[in-house]
Amino acid sequence: MPVPLARMQRSEELFAKALQLIPGGVNSPVRAFRSVGGTPFFTRSASGCRLTTVDGRELIDFVCTWGPAIHGHNPPDVRAAIAAALAERVAGLVPSVEQVRMCNSGTEATMSAVRLARGATGRSAIVKFAGCYHGHVDSLLVRAGSGALTHGHPDSAGIPPAVAAETRVLEFNDTAAVEALFAAEGGRLAAVIVEPYPANCGLILPQPGFLETLRRLCTAHGTVLIFDEVMTGFRLAGGGVQELTGVIPDLTAMGKIIGGGLPVGAFGGRRDLMQHLAPVGPVYQAGTLSGNPLAMAAGIAALDRLQQEQPYARLDAMGARLRDALLAAAREKGLPLQVPQTGSMFALFFADSTVGNYTQALASASRHFKALFHGALERGIYLPPSPFETCFLSTAHSDGDLDAAIEGLTSALKAL
Ligand code: PMP
Repeated sequence: MPVPLARMQRSEELFAKALQLIPGGVNSPVRAFRSVGGTPFFTRSASGCRLTTVDGRELIDFVCTWGPAIHGHNPPDVRAAIAAALAERVAGLVPSVEQVRMCNSGTEATMSAVRLARGATGRSAIVKFAGCYHGHVDSLLVRAGSGALTHGHPDSAGIPPAVAAETRVLEFNDTAAVEALFAAEGGRLAAVIVEPYPANCGLILPQPGFLETLRRLCTAHGTVLIFDEVMTGFRLAGGGVQELTGVIPDLTAMGKIIGGGLPVGAFGGRRDLMQHLAPVGPVYQAGTLSGNPLAMAAGIAALDRLQQEQPYARLDAMGARLRDALLAAAREKGLPLQVPQTGSMFALFFADSTVGNYTQALASASRHFKALFHGALERGIYLPPSPFETCFLSTAHSDGDLDAAIEGLTSALKAL
């Protein structure tokens, strides 16, 4: 039945705009109605076999997105299956995850994990480590006060001091400070949140026993251990650092790779903790676009490809080759260089000995990095434009690319 012209006004306006931006106003020719004449309508929403146009007409649809919509539009079971499919993969890969909730960024993941820990324990104080970045969450954008056991200070304008005061900030790898803090107020600590391999101040690796100490003390004091694997998750192993170290947190925050380039975050962990979340429990957490099919599909594709390709051993070998070449060039030149590397992650610190915490990373940062960055860029190699960002390898880097990078980087190092 022809749609009366008078009722097609909005579609006509939109089509005029589309004609300005897209050849013929469409991304596939038949949609332009050329064979039948008239103006194509624009769809506002679709459900089952019915479309609603922007002009408010409801139409019974026999086009079905040109074929794919065998179950009609927006089928709830397919929608749910897409979200469940990513959740299933994450739970299958990440040792700590019995249940998982999808959100839209790493920041949302850590924010929600901290709220869940507070809600489940009924405690307010949390512990983080200097140099670890967990997104721009008020309670996590906090720097250390002077002295290990003082309360934290806001690291940004707009964060109430009272919020920051609930965050304790310690040095990474300082087992004695963690022991002391738990001895003083273990019963008041809702959560310890940590990047198990801190990758927002270069790259720092835990000393043997450090993560195990966190696990032991959290268990002893009923504190929730949160691993922020936004950076390391799916990058170093399918199950992240927890798979590599065997230290299993109570909750894990994920992001980045899990979205295959689209905005996805997730947090998950022990079922009994996750059951505190609404609508089951009293800890509220929500998101209009959480679990949206587009982002879920991208995440599934990224994780499936990693599972098929299993690139981790190859990436680690490439990372080690690059590290060894850089160290050899620095030795030849007499430069004090540290190259922490694990799997597809590495960083460069101009320091005499291993960098184990934020203070040591800061001390090394100003030396040589700027000159190296520009020397590399001139030679066709793009390092992160800050000594505090980790360098990443990808599965797209070939052995030939690595040879070229080694040549350029060693030459840039020798020119310092
Ligand atoms: N945690 C870690 C370890 C991160 O590296 C980042 C971002 N670099 C975040 C959390 C925040 O993630 P997003 O930027 O997606 O909010």
